[in-house]
Amino acid sequence: MKYIEPHAHMVSRTTDDYQAMALAGCEIICEPAFWAGFDRTSAQGFYDYYCQLTDYEPARAAKFGIKHHSWLCINPKEAEDVGFAREVMSIIPEFLDKPNVLGIGEIGLNKNTTSELKIFEEHLALAKEHDLPILIHTPHLEDKLKGTRLIVDVLKNSQIDPAKIIIDHVEEHTAGLVLTEGFWAGMTLYPESKCSAPRAVDILENFGMENIWMNSACDWGVSDPIAVPKCAIEMKKRKYSPKEIEKIIYDNPLRFLSQSKNFNI
Ligand SMILES: [Zn+2]
Repeated sequence: MKYIEPHAHMVSRTTDDYQAMALAGCEIICEPAFWAGFDRTSAQGFYDYYCQLTDYEPARAAKFGIKHHSWLCINPKEAEDVGFAREVMSIIPEFLDKPNVLGIGEIGLNKNTTSELKIFEEHLALAKEHDLPILIHTPHLEDKLKGTRLIVDVLKNSQIDPAKIIIDHVEEHTAGLVLTEGFWAGMTLYPESKCSAPRAVDILENFGMENIWMNSACDWGVSDPIAVPKCAIEMKKRKYSPKEIEKIIYDNPLRFLSQSKNFNI
């Protein structure tokens, strides 16, 4: 099996995780900028993080024969202080020409606050200005439906081509909302929350196999870096053909990511 891991936070993973992913057939990892498990106290902290995402992590992945790409932004969890968020955002353009950078992400909402919304809109403007694809984080649990609706409304007003936007962490109650508006949808496979492998395959059966991908979103919390190939096995158990499985774990992410000028295989 070969697959693309389109959303993983490798800065918080070990070399054993890289090895397990390589053995499972992972060819490409894409890493959105996100919360690192703690709040950074200065814009300089983000500068260092962007260096890690664009220099150090690609070199670490290459040791396992895996290509590494990244997305840049200040995540909504740390964007509550608008002044601070703007200071961080002013650093981003100097990293956009790094060869592994795909676009702006993962932006979006965490607690659906006014400040988060403001910074979300400013990220959209940045992506538009540089003609970059966008990866969007949706809130957890009780805030997810409301947050996803808010995000979709803002995106519709932004006039950005929905085909260049993926809205991640969809679940049964948000997948339809995202897909019917023409956006791409990402399903996150988590051991404790978000989607289990059987639920993710149920979602495919309800909403179809177009414009959708699966990721592990493995990070500093309880998560599984090889959740995607495990879900491929769930598809195999349900008698999906090798071609159908490859469409979800390889062809679909390849198609979306190819819209970025820095994505090449
Ligand atoms: Zn993430």
